[in-house]
Amino acid sequence: MDFIDLAVPAVRLLVPYTPGKPISELKREMGLSSIVKLASNENPLGPSPRALAAIQGLIQDLHLYPDGSGFGLKSAISARCGVDPGSITLGNGSNDVLDIVARTFLGTGVSAVFSEHAFEVYSIVTQAVGARSLIAKAHDGSHGPRYGHDLDAFRAAIQDDTRVVFIANPNNPTGTFLKRFELASFLSDVPRHILIVIDEAYFEYVEDPDYPNALDWLSEYPNLVVSRTFSKAYGLAGLRVGYALSHPDVAALMNRVRQPFNVNSLALMAAEAALGDEAHLENTVTLNRLGLKTVSEVLIGRGFEVISSVGNFVTFDLGIPAAPIYLSLLQAGVIVRPIANYGLPNHLRVSLGTPDENQLFLEALDQVMPR
Ligand SMILES: *Cc1c(COP(=O)(O)O)cnc(C)c1O
Repeated sequence: MDFIDLAVPAVRLLVPYTPGKPISELKREMGLSSIVKLASNENPLGPSPRALAAIQGLIQDLHLYPDGSGFGLKSAISARCGVDPGSITLGNGSNDVLDIVARTFLGTGVSAVFSEHAFEVYSIVTQAVGARSLIAKAHDGSHGPRYGHDLDAFRAAIQDDTRVVFIANPNNPTGTFLKRFELASFLSDVPRHILIVIDEAYFEYVEDPDYPNALDWLSEYPNLVVSRTFSKAYGLAGLRVGYALSHPDVAALMNRVRQPFNVNSLALMAAEAALGDEAHLENTVTLNRLGLKTVSEVLIGRGFEVISSVGNFVTFDLGIPAAPIYLSLLQAGVIVRPIANYGLPNHLRVSLGTPDENQLFLEALDQVMPR
């Protein structure tokens, strides 16, 4: 029996998400003992000590279901973001939130718009529910940062059947961002029956004064959904927790679709504690600021074309196919991210680590590049 014939049509064509290579896998494959992973935009400082302390006492309660309403975490997010708890949808990572958006508002006969080189999950969740993906060409460099989202192309891509627009701000894997005035005019132009999802997975890292906080627009635009995560600056990627903020009516619909216990009890507790650890967040952002500057400058100094990034990663053009360089770096014990699946076969994305990790990456790259 060919099971592919049993899958629904949309799933037959689905291409699975390609994650960064786990450290354990590379250890197994190459017998290496020391490995630097700069492949998944994780926090090099680890989780907040407060988050770790908060979950210690919970281990013996693992036989109990988590609080399906996420009361404690929602209260903390509500206080922190100045939104009503009824505006919050919790997710098993923000990818879950994106999936919930798709299952709530997309399906066969409708479409979603997102950018070329945009985060891979938008196309997966769109296609999985049978909706059409409409791709807006990225900037070619003449009217905005090359490879970045082009909102005029978004405007042109929107069709009568479009129900959702996905915008990553900043975008992964490019690290480019949209400025306040650009997004503000886009929000006012788009018809109100189209949901605009602004994915702010790297919000905490961005320090450019022109970078908008999309929450400022929530009260004005009931069709706006803002998603955030504890996986990046908050250092809790392994626990899987993220959230969406939206109009309460939109949140109510998404909470109908949401699995009743999608966020586990450890994640709920850790995220709540992490939200209160301002010092850890500040250290994280400070370390990243230095790493972003150093790594970008060294790469530029070596003649690579670097996409200017505001995130915790840098994407650069090797000028030659990236796949063999990626493999040579693996052999040297450094895991970065090839992004040919994003239409960028000559680029590599490197997450910013500790100063030592960044240095090891830069040295290894120097050794593996042909001269
Ligand atoms: C990492 C990332 C996410 C977050 O994923 P989680 O499911 O929260 O771990 C969301 N959007 C973008 C653009 C990302 O890079």
